[in-house]
Amino acid sequence: MVPGEIDRAAARARLVAERRRLLEELGEPIENPGQMTYGSQAAAASQVFEQQRDLALRERSRTELGRVEAALRALDDGTYGTCVSCGKSIAPERLEAIPWAPTCIDCARKAGR
Ligand SMILES: [Zn+2]
Repeated sequence: MVPGEIDRAAARARLVAERRRLLEELGEPIENPGQMTYGSQAAAASQVFEQQRDLALRERSRTELGRVEAALRALDDGTYGTCVSCGKSIAPERLEAIPWAPTCIDCARKAGR
C-alpha cells in the first residue's frame, strides 16, 4: 500500500464486519420490565435504568450503523474518503482508525467531537 493512499479493500472488509456486529447487537431483544411479576420498587427502578441504558446504547449503535452504511455506499460510488462537511479528503490515517468517519479531522473537531 502506498503511504497516503486509502486501502479501500481493507476499509470495506472492516465496514462489512462492523455492520454485521452492529446488526447482531441491534437484533438482541431488550429485557422488558413489564414482564416482571413481583419485586421491590428498587429492583423495578434498577431494571428501568438498565432498560434505558440499553436503549441509549442501541441508539448509539443505530447511529454508528448509519455511518457504516453511508461509508459502504460511498465506497460503491467512489466518494469514500471525502469529508461530507467540507468536501476535502479525509486523512488515510483517520480512516484507518475510524473507517466510517464521515468527516475530516478538522470538521470533527469543529463539531466538538
Ligand atoms: Zn471536513
